[in-house]
Order: sequence, then C-alpha cells, then structure tokens
Amino acid sequence: MKIVIDKQSGFCFGVVRAIEMAENIVNNNEELYCLGEIVHNNEEVERLQNDGMKTIESTDIENIKNKSVLIRAHGEPPETYETLQKNNNTIHDATCPVVLKLQQRVKKGFQEMEKLGGQVIIFGKKGHAEVNGLVGQTKGKATVIESVEDIDEIDFSKPTRLFAQTTKSIEEFKRLVKQIDELTKEKQGEKQDYKAFDTICRQVANRKPQLIEFSKQHDVIIFVSGKKSSNGQYLYNVCKETNPKTFFISSEKEIDFNWFDNNTNSIGICGATSTPMWLMEKVAKHIDKDF
Ligand code: SF4
Repeated sequence: MKIVIDKQSGFCFGVVRAIEMAENIVNNNEELYCLGEIVHNNEEVERLQNDGMKTIESTDIENIKNKSVLIRAHGEPPETYETLQKNNNTIHDATCPVVLKLQQRVKKGFQEMEKLGGQVIIFGKKGHAEVNGLVGQTKGKATVIESVEDIDEIDFSKPTRLFAQTTKSIEEFKRLVKQIDELTKEKQGEKQDYKAFDTICRQVANRKPQLIEFSKQHDVIIFVSGKKSSNGQYLYNVCKETNPKTFFISSEKEIDFNWFDNNTNSIGICGATSTPMWLMEKVAKHIDKDF
C-alpha cells in the first residue's frame, strides 16, 4: 500500500512569514504575545507555545502593557494598533502582504463610498479575524455577507463596492458579483455605480485544481487541518466532492483504521494552508506503522 503526501499542501507564504517572525523573536528569548492563534492549527500553536510564545485574545489587549505583541497574518483593525500603542507595546506586524493590500483597497473604497453615500460589501465570514480587520477599515460600516443567500442585506439603490475575504471560493464570488450586478441594474439602470474587486488569494484558490487532481489519484484521502480553519473546511469539501472517501482529521490520533480495507491501495494525505508539513508526515508515519 502506497502513502503519498501532497507536496503542494502546507503553509502558504503569509503563514510561513508570520511563523518565522515569531520563531526569530522567541529564539532571542524575548517574551512574545500573539494576538489570536498564529495559525488555525492547534499542533503548530502548541509547538510555538512550548518555545515560549503566549497566545492572547482580543478581549485581553486592554490589559497588555509594555510587551511585544505579534499581529498574525489575518491582520487587525486600526483600533487594535491604537490600543496596543497606547499601552506602550512593541508591535511585530505579520499581517500578510496580500491582506494588507486588501485592507488598503477596502479603505480607499470606503472613502469613495462615504463621499457618494454608497456602501462597502465584504463577502466573508462574519467575526473572522481577517474580516474584522477589513470592517475596521470602514469605521465598522461595511456590510458582511457570508453567501449569496444573504444578498437581501444589500441596498441595491446605492453605489456599491464589493470585496472578498482572501479565502472565499472564486465560483461563489463570481455568482455573487453577477447577482448584485443584475439587481443593481434593476434599481439604478445601465449607469449603475457598482464595482466588484476579486481579492481572493490565489495561494488558496490554486490549491483547488491541484487537490482535485490529487484526490482522484488515491483510494482514500486523509485531509489534515485545524477545525477552525476556513480554508481547511473549503479545501476539505473540494476533496470530498471529488473523492467521497475523504476524511477530515486534526491529528493522527483521529484516524480510524476502518476507513481502510483490502481495496485500499493508495492513501493520499493533504491539508490546508494552515497545516504544517511535519504534521502530515506524522500522520503518514502513524498510518504506515499500524496499517
Ligand atoms: S492564504 Fe493568502 S492571504 Fe491568507 S495568509 Fe496565506 S498568502 Fe496571505
């Protein structure tokens, strides 16, 4: 029986950058507080915590004073920076450059919409750290819609700028763009003031076709990801739709050997952009040892 790890899976460059930043700081024996989990993967968070990094929640920031604080790849709203600076903290900003650029575009879009009495729409997951950071660029005024079903929350008579959270699905975004276009045209006519910006990160989007191919090549797929990872859920569904014998695990302890039988000749192991390669290797070893 063959066990193959997908070489394209694993951390995206934004996460690698944030982790390297954290490692450099803790390796210098500096005390480091990370605002929120550095990556949606418990195993990797634990590894860095064992090296001395502490994870804090946004509700803790008022009480953090004179410390070093890491902003993770998802980014933060402007108020977070203000509070940390007010309390004399040193900020290590690991906001992914792709997210940073998106924040700037949302801010610009909002300034334009403020002048025209329009609205900013963010296609993303309500309460997700990246989305909170984006909403923060609009003084909290952007409307967040999670799916095409939420479209009624939009006022189609107003000028509109639409942006997407970096990890959303391109297909769903395209559907949304089209529907808003039709409904805005109905209200505003041909001279509608509506612009949609495809701000989806290709580090995630490109994994879809790669994972479809990978899932076809193996009898069983073990998808490794933290349960809180948005792109983990999305990519898992991509694999599951291609290969129904796809199973989601967060660590090797969750493997059920009943998933494999005499017809299982090849097991593929893959994961999200927040899944460390060392964890996928651990899963492969665990299966190899006991199967
Ligand atoms: S998925 Fe893309 S936007 Fe998000 S952290 Fe990775 S590289 Fe940056």
